[in-house]
Amino acid sequence: MFTLKLDEIPEEGLDLKWNEEVSSLATYLKNLSNIDFDFETPLQSEVKIMRAGGSILITGEVQTTLRLQCVRCLKEFPYPLSTTFELTLHPLKEAPSEEETELGSEEMESSFFEGGEIHLSEIACEQIFLEIPWQPLCQQGCKGLCSVCGKDLNLSPCECVKEEWTPGFSALKNLKLD
Ligand SMILES: [Zn+2]
Ligand SMILES: [Zn+2]
Repeated sequence: MFTLKLDEIPEEGLDLKWNEEVSSLATYLKNLSNIDFDFETPLQSEVKIMRAGGSILITGEVQTTLRLQCVRCLKEFPYPLSTTFELTLHPLKEAPSEEETELGSEEMESSFFEGGEIHLSEIACEQIFLEIPWQPLCQQGCKGLCSVCGKDLNLSPCECVKEEWTPGFSALKNLKLD
């Protein structure tokens, strides 16, 4: 994982571009809780880092492809993701009060750094996490699994669904009961 020391940032700022391999991302995800996805391709990051007084301003772009699980059919599918961000990092001991933070730009996110280091890979990962949909779908209008037989209805319909939905069938049933 990529960490930058504050004194490595020159006055004129720093442009950085790096890739995080899938294997090191997997190790990182293992240490986090509530993670139910994997990276399928390396995480590509390109950022500009500027000093702003005692704070650090990071603007950049991250992109990768995740492997998510569809909430309806439970199939795993590739999910390409790319996002731009703008982030201000304040030194932890000089953290602005809540009031000051609220007065700041709504568009801009704030975070803190500690010990003279910026954990760039973690920041890049967090930007990706923010973009993951709450209810991932493998395709728009995924038909999901049959609640009775468990069959993937995207592949083919199943008998139990027909019985439930085809008016002809239920009419026939009623006739027999009479
Ligand atoms: Zn699905
Ligand atoms: Zn079924």
